[in-house]
Amino acid sequence: MKVPFGQEWKNPNSVFDFPKLKLEKDEKARIVIIDEQPECEYVHTLRKVITDERGKPLMEEKKRKDDSTYEVPQTEFKGQYICLGEMETLLNKNIDPDNCPACKAATENSGAVARPEPRFVLNVLKYNLKKGTTTVNTPFQVTLHAWVFTLNRFNTLKDIANEHGSLQNVDLLLGPVEGPLMYQKFPVALGSKCEAWSSESRKETAFAVIQNDREEDLTPLLGRRVTFGELQTVVYEIVSAYNEAFGIPGNLPATPSKPAKEEPSIDVSALLNSSGAVEESSEDEDVSSEEGDDGSEPEAEDLNKLLASLGQ
Ligand SMILES: [Zn+2]
Repeated sequence: MKVPFGQEWKNPNSVFDFPKLKLEKDEKARIVIIDEQPECEYVHTLRKVITDERGKPLMEEKKRKDDSTYEVPQTEFKGQYICLGEMETLLNKNIDPDNCPACKAATENSGAVARPEPRFVLNVLKYNLKKGTTTVNTPFQVTLHAWVFTLNRFNTLKDIANEHGSLQNVDLLLGPVEGPLMYQKFPVALGSKCEAWSSESRKETAFAVIQNDREEDLTPLLGRRVTFGELQTVVYEIVSAYNEAFGIPGNLPATPSKPAKEEPSIDVSALLNSSGAVEESSEDEDVSSEEGDDGSEPEAEDLNKLLASLGQ
């Protein structure tokens, strides 16, 4: 094919280069959400049990909040996959074993394969701040990021939206991260106003960034979208490894059309579940909400209309 110079080359994988909202150690961030609503997908986080040279599962000790300990199998991360269940079934039952091989495996062998969990993503503007503060820097600067979050975080944001109206009109103050950096567990507080919409020149700067950098479909950041057969292959590998490690006979994952009858003789799902799952996707944040009380209402801005006009 001939390609005209001057045409923007759209790489279909460019979404994977899109910066994700991630806080560094001790960092505080100030953001404003620019999408009216997040995208949501149910996602299976798949992990494969690690065994020693004799094929026995390697266990690791975990601590509960009361300092008592328990053991869980060590696992390696095998990827996050978008659940193939029907959204309506997932919303009602949180699992769809008839349509998704990973859901099927999760109902038969919940120790080996985790049930799907909703994950969310949306575009946010992140402010350039004065070091160590949540005060915007001069000159005014923002960058677009994809914020991926869990149901806990969604509920926090929903509560803020219920109290204060559209999240597109308020700044959120994030951080610093509590505990290990990789889990990105941080508090969300409400800013007193939206800095991006506080003056014409700032709006101009912000909209230029949105127009240039906004990604319409961020869902590839939630998990890999694969075919039934591909997901089944990954699930098969994980369940086989698990059953072999724990000496569970004959409970290989069946296709949804042929349900397996055998129950696993060992089920460590209770242990896994009690660990809080320690995934990036398991946030259990304490949310403090510093309400802005300088009397200024966030400027009502019909952001959706403006955003819609950008696409034309
Ligand atoms: Zn599923």
